[in-house]
Amino acid sequence: MCECGSSRVPGIGPFASGRALVEFVLNAHGGSVAVSALPAGLEHNCQGCGKPFLLETFVQSCPACGGVHAVSPPRATDATAIQYAGADFVLPAAA
Ligand SMILES: [Zn+2]
Repeated sequence: MCECGSSRVPGIGPFASGRALVEFVLNAHGGSVAVSALPAGLEHNCQGCGKPFLLETFVQSCPACGGVHAVSPPRATDATAIQYAGADFVLPAAA
């Protein structure tokens, strides 16, 4: 397994919240985690617009409003752990 769960620094790492968590996952393992498929899709109501969508990768934007959501690898099966980056967050251009 990877070391995504090894950080003990509060406020950053896999147990951060909001944008900090989204940015952590985006940067994890050079970005390879963010585009990886979850073990199972997570049903989730967009925290921006409230529309339901299925989170299928660790970082994904809402199909309705584009709001960016992420879940960290240690919590990949927990829909309540999904974090929302905020309405003004834009994904960096795909590498
Ligand atoms: Zn939305």
